[in-house]
Amino acid sequence: MKDRIALVTGASKGIGRAICTRLAKGGATVVACARNGAALDALAAEVKERELPGRIDPRTLDVCDKSAIEALVEAVVEAHERIDILVNNAGITRDGLLMTMEDDQFDDVLTTNLRAAFWLTRAVSRIMVRQRYGRIINISSVSGVMGNPGQVNYAASKAGLIGMTKSIAKELGKRKITCNVVAPGFIQTDMTAGLPDKLKESAKLAIPMGRFGEVDEVAESVAFFAGEGASYITGQVLIVDGGLRM
Ligand code: NAD
Repeated sequence: MKDRIALVTGASKGIGRAICTRLAKGGATVVACARNGAALDALAAEVKERELPGRIDPRTLDVCDKSAIEALVEAVVEAHERIDILVNNAGITRDGLLMTMEDDQFDDVLTTNLRAAFWLTRAVSRIMVRQRYGRIINISSVSGVMGNPGQVNYAASKAGLIGMTKSIAKELGKRKITCNVVAPGFIQTDMTAGLPDKLKESAKLAIPMGRFGEVDEVAESVAFFAGEGASYITGQVLIVDGGLRM
């Protein structure tokens, strides 16, 4: 990934942060985007301190702000001239049962998890088509594949990402742009930390590997799709869940 320019959303913590570190380990320059600028600066400092071959270019971004997305893409191209790898990772949950789910609970999750990925991918695809190269990786979830009670909004957004990915793969394949999904199961991050202990225990029982995944285990799959070796793989969903979905 030397000389590759990557853009990763939701980079301040959790899976997004691990993806940035992994791509920097592979030699990429990573434009790390999140709302929390201080966390991004800390990530950039850590990558520098560890003397990883790549580097972090921290940029504050709220993915729900469409005009900020467009301005960011322009600024990145001005600074780096290209964007080779895009990882749509930013995501939220606002769980609740269907019968009592509020409109804004549904809309907020759809906007952050799906519409923002559409806005960013649309803007970046124009650059990728021009350079005739691109790797787009969308972070979905097993919820989007299996459904999950209490997650009508989240599962809809994550299933939407899968449909979007396959359509992009078909539209842009001839331009040497691949688009794939990584769909994690239960991964140890702030997103799962708040789950009730009882639910965590029953989840572990349903996972053949008997444990939650680590962020680095998800980042490794993203690096695979982003790397040169995955040049003939597009429109695929790689499930990283310790066997849960099987
Ligand atoms: P996390 O809460 O630790 O991190 C989420 C990241 O998204 C943070 O950096 C947060 O700041 C960012 N984000 C949220 N809203 C944003 C916005 N409006 N603008 C910019 N950034 C925003 O969660 P995580 O577990 O690291 O989740 C990362 C991705 O992986 C999400 O898309 C999530 O749905 C997905 N995922 C996580 C799990 C899991 O078990 N943790 C499972 C399946 C899928």
